[in-house]
Amino acid sequence: MASEKEIQKILNDGISYFGKDEVIYVYECKKCHKLDPVPSFVINEHLGFLKFIKAKKSYEMECPYCGSPSFPIKTSKDV
Ligand SMILES: [Zn+2]
Repeated sequence: MASEKEIQKILNDGISYFGKDEVIYVYECKKCHKLDPVPSFVINEHLGFLKFIKAKKSYEMECPYCGSPSFPIKTSKDV
């Protein structure tokens, strides 16, 4: 489990990379527990794609490190 400090660092990295106008989601992999910042426009594209293929809406993303399911644990809207 990631510490609050690690989560905050990833959030700040995401904000400095994508800009503070973008809502950043911190994803944590269920398997390897690596954290990844994902901007809201990527999530919206993902949800749009799921709608297009008539899949159930899900915030689940693939971990970029091991390919396992990854879920948002915090967003920059929370802070
Ligand atoms: Zn992983």
